[in-house]
Amino acid sequence: MKFTPINLLPKLIITIDGPAGAGKTTVSKKLAEVLDYQYIDTGALYRAVALAAQKKGSASLASLASNDDQALAKLCRNLQLEFKSSLKGLVLFCDGIDITDKIRTPEISMLASTISARPAVRKALFGLQRKMGKKKQAVFEGRDMGTVIFPDADLKFFLEASSGVRALRRFKELGDTCSQTLKEVEEDILQRDNQDSTRGAAPLKPAKDAIKIDSTDLSADQVVEKMLFFIKKAIINEN
Ligand code: C5P
Repeated sequence: MKFTPINLLPKLIITIDGPAGAGKTTVSKKLAEVLDYQYIDTGALYRAVALAAQKKGSASLASLASNDDQALAKLCRNLQLEFKSSLKGLVLFCDGIDITDKIRTPEISMLASTISARPAVRKALFGLQRKMGKKKQAVFEGRDMGTVIFPDADLKFFLEASSGVRALRRFKELGDTCSQTLKEVEEDILQRDNQDSTRGAAPLKPAKDAIKIDSTDLSADQVVEKMLFFIKKAIINEN
């Protein structure tokens, strides 16, 4: 689908939060492309910390289990995380190594959800995310973008969808690489929703001023179209 370009687009920070599988990634990428903005996938940062903890083995995983925030803070401090744009899209480097594909397993999804509940991890990633938003002109995707990281964002969206549709989308997205049944994918999604929304630190919830969009019966293009409508409206109201 072709979208009408927005003329004289000001520098905005746009946040897209929501539960797993709501379509945030597809929509955020498309929106960033249409606006010629940077796309930042903050879930990948939590996944990178999870991968590092998994690689370090039992010591790191034990510190997670025993709520050893000092050890987790140290783990995060020693990681060099950097996004780079490439022909295959957004690539995440950790200590100079491309980890983009390695962080997409079901185990890392669940570990990322567990690790992201730890205040030390959230604190460690706070500054990095804020720094990435300095230049503005960016679409940030995550769980707490509109509530914690960018409470003053220009536009905040909260994307929802039924758990059945979210599981099906995730299942199709993983395709042949999926090691789980559709039912298992849905169970994992529900478990992550529960962990992410009930944690004390930056729980998953819509910001008070977020625009909620239910994408259950909408295509990604239709969601982007809706978002562009609200963006244009906000720009007109500003001027
Ligand atoms: O978005 P994605 O599914 O890649 O995120 C993986 C996990 O990272 C989520 O389940 C959530 O626990 C955590 N996360 C978070 N805050 C963010 C982004 C992701 O807690 N801003």
